[in-house]
Amino acid sequence: MKTRVAIIGGGPGGTTAAMYLLRQGLTPVIIEKESFPRYRIGESMTGECGAILRDLNLGMDMIENKHPVKHGVKVYGKHPWFLPVMARTPEGKLMDQTTWQVRRSDFDKMMLDEAVKRGAILVHGQATDPILDENGKVTGVQVRLADGSGMMQIESELLMDFSGGATFLATKGVTGPKYLGNYDRQIAIFSQIENGIRDNGEARDEQNGNTLIFYKQKYHWAWWIPIDDKVTSVGVVTPAAYFMEQNETKEEFLKRELHNIHPELTSRIPDVTLVEDTRVIKNYSYQVKQFCGEGYMAFGDAHRFVDPIFSFGMYVTMKEAQLAAPYVVKYLNGELPKEGNPFEEYQVMVEKAIDVLEDALDGFWEHPFAFAMLVYNRYVDQMIDIFAGRIYENQPSEAVVAFRKLLKRERTYDSDIYSVPIGSRYHADRAPIWVDDTSDAEVMTKLLNL
Ligand SMILES: Cc1cc2nc3c(=O)[nH]c(=O)nc-3n(C[C@H](O)[C@H](O)[C@H](O)COP(=O)(O)OP(=O)(O)OC[C@H]3O[C@@H](n4cnc5c(N)ncnc54)[C@H](O)[C@@H]3O)c2cc1C
Repeated sequence: MKTRVAIIGGGPGGTTAAMYLLRQGLTPVIIEKESFPRYRIGESMTGECGAILRDLNLGMDMIENKHPVKHGVKVYGKHPWFLPVMARTPEGKLMDQTTWQVRRSDFDKMMLDEAVKRGAILVHGQATDPILDENGKVTGVQVRLADGSGMMQIESELLMDFSGGATFLATKGVTGPKYLGNYDRQIAIFSQIENGIRDNGEARDEQNGNTLIFYKQKYHWAWWIPIDDKVTSVGVVTPAAYFMEQNETKEEFLKRELHNIHPELTSRIPDVTLVEDTRVIKNYSYQVKQFCGEGYMAFGDAHRFVDPIFSFGMYVTMKEAQLAAPYVVKYLNGELPKEGNPFEEYQVMVEKAIDVLEDALDGFWEHPFAFAMLVYNRYVDQMIDIFAGRIYENQPSEAVVAFRKLLKRERTYDSDIYSVPIGSRYHADRAPIWVDDTSDAEVMTKLLNL
């Protein structure tokens, strides 16, 4: 098969890319290995993620499908604070807005069906290997078809990697190296409950569809995300070493932690009855260098994931898909630089945006009091912008500059090293301090047996 653009992954990123490319008159091929609906974690959207869905004319579908409406995120630590979802008017004024929470199996299926309905071609199978020419340019991908009928070779002018945590192109050595990120020693353990007591007030911070975050101490927190009118996604994130020390099954750990992290969470779940499998994700924090090049681009989790705490994952992959569409058209028309990386400008733009998120997240953990001051007093509007996802323009804002000062961190983008994770263990001098007595090897051995 021959196509101008092949997309690996039919999740929200790949399908958003397909819909924006269709608008540009291109007919992409989506390669997806799983049969939808399929489970996925990552259910809370930022404000600007909702804006992308509205831009794709899917706002009415989201309402008809009755996805819970999110007005903001409330964070319970020592002192609770709330950040509302707000949009910017064309004149730049902040205005109240809402976004959605989703059960991913339903939402992802809706997105894939819609992309196909609008004209994308779906190939059900697993991308196994990229095809490269003698100069190392990516010219396609090999696919093992899901119906067992064998292999298919797909020749493409551009291969877009939306494979999520599988990081297809990085794993196959097409991109630059993959580095561990700041939060790579964290573990997330999660499930769903049916009997949680929801907020039910009039005010925006009391709406029952809101995301709630609870933290006990540094790197030790829980989420609460309503995914329909009864079921709430709940998860606990802690250092992996702490989990191992408890000597509990993942279910025991999750249930006990949900009652231990914060009294505000305990009171919302008098009886913890899990209605979904308990699942684990570890090593989710990483960054891939040089993730775009001749014939290929990687998006969202396929090149970088910092930490799930403020729900940026779906938004970043969908926004990158939207921002990439005009670059893709120019690339196919031969209008991007012929020397070096044709997507250099795009790559630096999206890298800078995730740096903003990383600095805000690190600021939250390293300087929680200063963070709360910035949210509530000093740079309220700028913090609302970051949480909504307005990180691609007018950044770094004064709030981000303040985080960088607090973190004693400088970002430079004029040399080859800009995309090495600033807080990773590859910069031992800047790595976060972990309360961790268990050796890495011991933790890894135990985790592999989960
Ligand atoms: C603990 C945790 C909590 C999170 N919470 C949130 C949250 O609240 N909100 C949020 O927005 N994000 C959250 N995220 C992040 C979110 O899960 C991801 O950012 C998001 O799913 C990325 O979407 P995607 O479409 O890029 O990739 P995915 O959703 O991962 O989809 C990738 C698709 O590619 C397919 N695929 C992979 N490899 C191949 C292959 N070789 N061939 C063919 N198909 C392939 C897969 O089957 C899959 O369908 C969380 C992440 C974690 C770890």
